[in-house]
Amino acid sequence: MLTSQDVKEYAKACGADLCGIASMDRFEGAPLQCDPRQIAPDAKSMIVLGFRILRGALRGIEEGTYFTAYAGMGYAGINFVRMPVVIWELCNAIEDAGYETVPIPNNFPWNATNVSGWVKGVEQEYDPAHTRPVAPGRAAPDVFIQLRIAAFCAGLGEIGWSKMFLTPEFGPRQRIGAIITDAPLEPDPIYAGPPMCARCMACVQQCSGSCLPADKSVKVTVAGRELEWADIDFEQCSKFFCGAAHTHNPFMCSAEDEEGFNQPVWEAQRYKMAPMYEYGRALEGASGCIRACMIHLEEQGKLKNKFEKPFRVRKPWRLERDW
Ligand code: SF4
Ligand code: SF4
Repeated sequence: MLTSQDVKEYAKACGADLCGIASMDRFEGAPLQCDPRQIAPDAKSMIVLGFRILRGALRGIEEGTYFTAYAGMGYAGINFVRMPVVIWELCNAIEDAGYETVPIPNNFPWNATNVSGWVKGVEQEYDPAHTRPVAPGRAAPDVFIQLRIAAFCAGLGEIGWSKMFLTPEFGPRQRIGAIITDAPLEPDPIYAGPPMCARCMACVQQCSGSCLPADKSVKVTVAGRELEWADIDFEQCSKFFCGAAHTHNPFMCSAEDEEGFNQPVWEAQRYKMAPMYEYGRALEGASGCIRACMIHLEEQGKLKNKFEKPFRVRKPWRLERDW
């Protein structure tokens, strides 16, 4: 009999840093297009895995001298290399034990939905010009799993004001993948440890694109808990995390460059810097929602992954336009 303990031990042995388990009833009330039960109606459990972003992957951006480590090892490399391999290994072991597994890596570029989870420009709904349900009452493909909600349902932590998932181990410094299975695994309790996000608003103040409002939020009820986060401007973030702010992008050297980096998301991600694994260059190094938040949570002593020295030891750099 496969147990939750077996799954967690093997997940860690394969290379996951965090593993929690949700029962499928915790997704009751999810919008149809985001409901994992639409993918596997007979599933019993969702296994949610966290993969740490090395703190040092952000060092070169913090110093303004080396941007490849975060885009490669801290972003695309986790989503497109490490995470799928670990999910694969764990799925193999669970299927060897006689239970089906649906691997859910962090949104691949060939997913039929966009990175916000909605099909081509349509909020909350599918676009009938782009996809359609195969039968009445079913979600249109592709269902988009909200991995942060999944991580919450699996007890790994909470969602902060920045909408980043915060764990007691790493704060905002992980990426999330999942597996849906018909294995009846014991679920973890919903996170009930010390609150992580005290609404310090460092994420709001240090976001290079002003994408996070301090006074406008989204509220949802998940697994019987009311969650609230900033009503983030995703379109703005999709440009600015790839370097649309001249203040945060040393590869922007002229007015023409600025225009290039401010193109619609997919063109902007390809402007000047080649994308990593078909994914945009995360040139801005998540200045607000990861770096500022991590610094704050470390200062508060809230994270289990402790370091000898504080992350920010020099005044943050900032470029001014000179064209
Ligand atoms: S920076 Fe502060 S307000 Fe923002 S998510 Fe982190 S803890 Fe919450
Ligand atoms: S990734 Fe960057 S632009 Fe997007 S919300 Fe975070 S800090 Fe702001």
